[in-house]
Formats: sequence, structure tokens, C-alpha cells
Amino acid sequence: MPFNHQKAVYTPSFDEAVRLILDAVSQRDSESVPLLDSLGRVTAVDVPAPWSTPRYDNSAMDGFAVRAPDCVPGAALPIRGYVPAGGTPTQPVGPGCAIKIMTGAPMPDSCDAVVPFEAAEEMNGAVRLKKPVSPRQHVRFRGEDIGAGDVIISEGHIIRPVDIGVLASFGNKTVVVYKRPNVAVLSTGDELVENAEDLGPGKVLDSNRWAIAAAVRECGAIPVMLGIARDDRQSHREKLQDGLHVDVLITSAGVSAGDRDLVREILAELDVRPVFRGVRVKPGSPTCFGLRGSTKVFSLPGNPVASLIAFEEFVKPALLKMMGHQRVLNPFLPAVLASDVRKSPGHAKLLRVRLEQREGMLSAWSAGKQDTGMQKTLLRADALALLPEGRVSFAAGEIVSVQLLNGAMAEVIEGVLLCIAPISSYGATETGAARSDMTSAVKIDCA
Ligand code: AMP
Ligand code: MG
Repeated sequence: MPFNHQKAVYTPSFDEAVRLILDAVSQRDSESVPLLDSLGRVTAVDVPAPWSTPRYDNSAMDGFAVRAPDCVPGAALPIRGYVPAGGTPTQPVGPGCAIKIMTGAPMPDSCDAVVPFEAAEEMNGAVRLKKPVSPRQHVRFRGEDIGAGDVIISEGHIIRPVDIGVLASFGNKTVVVYKRPNVAVLSTGDELVENAEDLGPGKVLDSNRWAIAAAVRECGAIPVMLGIARDDRQSHREKLQDGLHVDVLITSAGVSAGDRDLVREILAELDVRPVFRGVRVKPGSPTCFGLRGSTKVFSLPGNPVASLIAFEEFVKPALLKMMGHQRVLNPFLPAVLASDVRKSPGHAKLLRVRLEQREGMLSAWSAGKQDTGMQKTLLRADALALLPEGRVSFAAGEIVSVQLLNGAMAEVIEGVLLCIAPISSYGATETGAARSDMTSAVKIDCA
């Protein structure tokens, strides 16, 4: 492993850097939040059902509650009363009789089946049945869905709308979830301006802070905008000090070998202990990671493409772990390299690629020029292909590992499904491919 003697800190490989970061972070404490605010958050406790559901036998259809054995073909059952949803049966339903019942209304004790309106004919205060009736038909029985004490949501689960619905159905007004870290985002550089009016010669608009803050927010953490530190020690010191009061500090730029790259030096003066300096991966090689107390400090490269890729690979897994997520690493999928690629030795390479589905496989095409200055290439990319450190040349047709970038997911999954399922099993519609029989392998009884 290369050793950075000057700074006496390792420059790890890509995998080692991720491991060092994940080893240094842990789940945050939990907090109770209002039900709706729990969307997308991770539960910190198991939530058991306080009672079984349905709480009472009830009708699954609008129709007539009956006793199944009374329902011989041709029978006409006198209708005795009406139970709306929210009501209760007010009189007993005697043998050979029926009661009009609405979906969700409690079943009268004596009835064991519901005949939907569509399967019955109402005439002169009686109901005539068009079909035979089986016991239990169209009845939802007490406790058949969720049992009292069953864990409805377990610790480590990401709350979705369906979970919120189930939690609401058991009267939960709040949910205990892992806390979200506050993440300070600082840009550095004398060339940076905030507004287009200030774009004099040699100036550029600060875009990293916005992109990084957006990425922080996208993974569920709370960005705190720290502004811009100028390339002097005083400005760096003030801004970095502010950022060390929060859970995570992310800086961009000023972390390479330039004579005004002050971030590492000032962080060291502020007692930030470096865990690593630089990573053997490009883009993102200047990335540094350090700790001061409970604050995690990520120093990302200045180049907008490199800083976002470094965020994706190094910061995001840490934030997800802090917020209680169980899957924190973006998984790698196999794809066929569409063209020959050469890279320099000594570091892994994350190639920005587009993915297409070709001959039953995902195929990875370069998304454009790979210099880190090319933002358009990242705008166009669906995925990052990881070319390992130990090799320099890769031939078209080789299988490489690709990691999907946000937003590419749906299209790629559709491509994968198309590879697995023959085209003919999709019913083509005007709006595209409609899945027809994707569940045929699993027997589902929905009579
Ligand atoms: P540095 O790491 O300071 O050498 O910066 C590398 C490149 O990234 C330079 O071209 C900078 O102008 C550019 N850069 C640095 N910070 C930002 C930022 N916040 N927004 C946009 N570009 C930046
Ligand atoms: Mg700079």
C-alpha cells in the first residue's frame, strides 16, 4: 500500500477508503417524529401491532349478509335491516333471512357469507340468489390480516407510504426513527462568486455547494450552507471552525497540491485527525477524511464532477449508515464494456457510462469525454463503471462492474426485466410495454 511519508497518512485504495469511513461512523440516536415526517426515515425500533386486524368480522362487498346453508338455489331470503359502514347490526338475522350490508360494516353474528349485489336480485323486500354461496365468501375475518403483537415495521426499515398507512391504521401519531445528521457544506477558493453579476475575469460561480447540499438532502440528511472560504488562512480557519460544530463537515476544493490549497493544513491546526489523505481512485483522488470528536470531516476535490462522484462513493454511504440504513453501498451490476478502454496504473477509475440493453445484457458505453472538467459527461451518465487499480487496459466485450447513478434505476431495471422475460410476455400498448404475466412462476390464488 502506498504510504504518504510527508504527511504520515495512508492513501488507501478505493475499497479501503470506503471501509475506513464506514468503520468510523455509527448510527445516530433516535427521535420521535410526527407520522408524516417519518416518510423516507429509518425506524429505530420494532413497532408491534397493538391489536389484531381486522378488529371485527366485516363485509368485503356491498351486498347481503346471509347464512350460507340457507342459500339453496332459487331461495328468496327476506331482507331484515341494513348495516352501513360505521354502523352495527341492530337486530338479529334469523334463519332463512338476509340483511343488506355495505363494505366494511360489521357482520351480524349469525351470518357467515356475503352475496354481492351483482350476484343477487332484490325484489319485494327479498333477495333472490343467482349463484351458489360458499361459507366465508366475501367476509374479512377478525385477525386474519395482522395479529396482535406482530411486528408491523421492524427496526432498520425505510418508511414508505404503505408503512405510514399501516401505522395510522393502528393509531400511531408518531414514529421513532434515527436522527438525521446536520451536514455543513463549505466551498473554498478565491475564484468563487455567489452571483452571475460578479463573474469578473477568472471567476466562476460556486456550484459545488449547491450540488453537494442537494446530494445531502437527497439522501435524507440536513444540509447547512456555510458559504465560501477564501484562499487565506483566516477565512479558512473561521469557516472550518463553524463547520466543526455539526455532525458532518464537507468541504470542496483546496485539497490538492496547489500552493493555496489550505484545507488539510488548517484542519490539522484545528485538531482534525486525518484518517486518510487521498484515495487511489479517479475522479476523487484528492479526497481526505478526518475526525474531530464526533464530527466527521470530508474534504472533497474542487472539480464539480470529482466532488459529486466523491460524495456518491464516500460521503453518501457514511450519511446513510448514520441514519440507520442497512444497505449503504450502491451495489455493482455486471455490464459489457462497449469499447476498449485504457487507464493509467496506480489507481482505480470510475468511468462515466451510459447503459443500454443489448443482446440480453447491459452494455456500458462511454458517456463522453472522461476529463473531470466535463460536466456534460456526468449529466449524460447512467452509471459509473469501476475499472480496477491493478489493470491498465480493458477490451470491448469484457464484463465490468457498474454502479447506477440516481434516476437511472427505473430504465435499467426495465432493461434487465426485458432481458429475463421474453418480449412476447409484455403486452405492447400505446404507452409502451405493459407487463402482463410477470408473476406466473408464483401461484397466486385471488379467486
Ligand atoms: P482546486 O481543488 O481548488 O484546485 O479546484 C479545482 C477546480 O475546481 C478549479 O477549476 C476550481 O475553480 C473548481 N472549483 C472549485 N470549487 C468550486 C466550486 N465550489 N464550484 C465550482 N467550481 C469549483
Ligand atoms: Mg482552489
